[in-house]
Amino acid sequence: MDNKTPLIALMGNPNSGKTAIFNLLTGMNQKVSNYPGITVEQRRGNAQLTDTCAVQIMDMPGTYSLTPESLDEKIVAQQTLKWLNGIDRPAAIISVVDAGNLSRNLYLTSQVMELGIPVIIALNMMDRVKKKNQNIDSKELQKILGVHAVVPMSAREKWGINELQSELLNVITKANIEVSTHIQMEIPKEIEKIISPISEFLYDKNNHDNYITNVQALRIITRKSALELYSECKNLTGAEIKSLTLLRDNVAHEIDELGLNHRILEATLRFEMLDNALKDHTLINQSEIKNQSRSERVDKILTHKWVGPLIFITLLYGIFQSIFTWATIPMQYIDSAVGYLGNYCVQLFSPGILRDLLVEGIISGVGAILIFLPQILILMFFMTILEDTGYMARVAFMMDKLMNKIGLHGKSVLPLMSGYACAIPGIMATRTIDSWKERLITIIVLPLISCSARLPVYTLMIGAFIPNKPILGFLNLQGLTMVLMYFLGTVTAMVIAAIISRFIEEKGKSSFVMEMPPYRMPLAVSLFRQVYTRGKLFVINAGKIIMAISIVLWFLASFPKPDSDEESFSIQNSYAGKIGHAIEPVIAPLGFDWKIGVGLITSFAAREVMVSTLATLYNVEDEGDDFVGITEALKNEVNPLTGLPKYTPLVALSIMVFYVYAAQCMATFAIVKNETNSWKWPLIMIVYMTGLAYIGSLLVYQGGQMLGFT
Ligand code: GDP
Ligand code: MG
Repeated sequence: MDNKTPLIALMGNPNSGKTAIFNLLTGMNQKVSNYPGITVEQRRGNAQLTDTCAVQIMDMPGTYSLTPESLDEKIVAQQTLKWLNGIDRPAAIISVVDAGNLSRNLYLTSQVMELGIPVIIALNMMDRVKKKNQNIDSKELQKILGVHAVVPMSAREKWGINELQSELLNVITKANIEVSTHIQMEIPKEIEKIISPISEFLYDKNNHDNYITNVQALRIITRKSALELYSECKNLTGAEIKSLTLLRDNVAHEIDELGLNHRILEATLRFEMLDNALKDHTLINQSEIKNQSRSERVDKILTHKWVGPLIFITLLYGIFQSIFTWATIPMQYIDSAVGYLGNYCVQLFSPGILRDLLVEGIISGVGAILIFLPQILILMFFMTILEDTGYMARVAFMMDKLMNKIGLHGKSVLPLMSGYACAIPGIMATRTIDSWKERLITIIVLPLISCSARLPVYTLMIGAFIPNKPILGFLNLQGLTMVLMYFLGTVTAMVIAAIISRFIEEKGKSSFVMEMPPYRMPLAVSLFRQVYTRGKLFVINAGKIIMAISIVLWFLASFPKPDSDEESFSIQNSYAGKIGHAIEPVIAPLGFDWKIGVGLITSFAAREVMVSTLATLYNVEDEGDDFVGITEALKNEVNPLTGLPKYTPLVALSIMVFYVYAAQCMATFAIVKNETNSWKWPLIMIVYMTGLAYIGSLLVYQGGQMLGFT
């Protein structure tokens, strides 16, 4: 994709079908990357219009307006501001409009039309309009607005795309294309006068006409973040920013004094303009209201005070159940395929360090990455469905009040729930949360939710040391302990969220003016492509980090080699073993000995590795069901000083509490690094989680001993 191919920007509201159109235009010719410095996906792809003419299409994040609110919208606002100032201007803009929600979607289109770039409206979802026996007069709409073309189409039924391509060709081949807009906001004289100090300030910096300058002033008045973007784009000095901010605050105040609201000033004027422009024309030969009310009727049930949450919980239960049942089989396959590959390499190569590195370091590292894939893909599959059908918006709306109390967002619910399966897909799913702060807090507390990798550790400890006896008649002590561990993690996550939300500064607050998109059948192609993209992103980006750490762990567990070949090598002589011994004084107050210490270190690869490490340390023969062997070995271990059993129920409890809190999964932190684009947050998480684990275990063990438990 060289720079000479004309650039076409695809813009539109979320869920208007941009990605579907993008896929139709570009086919498989696409490249997904992140915007520099942030984790918003940027898709670009080439579209062949004729044999000799290709364009580059850029799928922009979905946005309702050019006033920057969420991260996605900020990116779009920033880009368009650059275009307005002549930087990286695309040759044309395709404004994707949901034909079923015409006036609402045209809001963004009307803003985009003010950029001085030819606009083609892709009037998408016409299939739904037609189904209701409606039609939209696209020629008339084109005339009213003054855009280059309006192309009715359906990305789902794949028609209209040829017309869109030929309009594109038309725009980029015409020499002097006329860019005009037939509609402009009427800014009342009174308001124009109030905002004039800002307009004058901007006018000095700009070379735009009065109208565009006024529009910019309105946007700066609406949101401070618009002012920040403007200052950035224009390289304003500190002093200039200060005086512009002062002007802005004064003007905003004056507007509010008039009884207007400065935050919706542009919206009011713009909707007025659209209403006026469209009202005298019969664009649509039936009203839009009918469609609305059907969605509304469904909403009455799905967001009902108690029926709503009940449906949500049932859905979640179904999703998790299927993750557990569906993921186990592919996970077993991956596990045995990796084992097979390892064995194959063992036979293929002669013994030596390189073979060990390949088999125990690299291949098992790859295994550690791939084993997560089934869960990630399945969860992403369901999340995308919930998102695309419009249901997630309802859930977020329902849960928002509750989640706000602990500094989270309604959209945090599903990622947090995913944490019970695995933190990684949960963390990736936080991308739907607009506010940076709420997203970050969700990420920070997510690994506290007990994931499925803790289960083997809980099972081993409970099976070996917690007596299987009834409690209160109907409960069972073992089951109760298990529930307690899950409960501990969940409650701690909530508490930590509530605490840190006071300390993390908001980068642009998101107000909850979310729109309820109409319910819609997801498109299979989009669905699978999104799942595929996420999976690939995980394997490649997190994979690099996981691989590096696997090799380090392999090195620690296999070196130094014994001097002579006679001595057999065992992990206790390795660096990991030595570290285990070295940290023994530190972990002794928790009731742990050096063997547990080695387990804690190797657990950093993945928590369940603890079980196999202990099995190795106790020289338990690995005969399939190694829980039984190791359970006995742990029970029989005697403290040489006292002659009493070394591991007691109290030690087991302390170990479990440690595993509830400890930061032990490198894959999680690799993903956090990826999603936050810095090592700062993963490091903070490792520190706070390790601290919690240590204090938690210390309290359990020391407190337990004080109370006379063993
Ligand atoms: P984006 O958020 O703008 O990228 O929208 P997507 O391309 O992801 O589409 C959102 C949803 O609308 C998906 O479920 C699509 O399957 C669906 N969709 C896209 N185009 C059409 C269309 O022309 N007709 C109908 N009925 N649905 C569509
Ligand atoms: Mg999209």
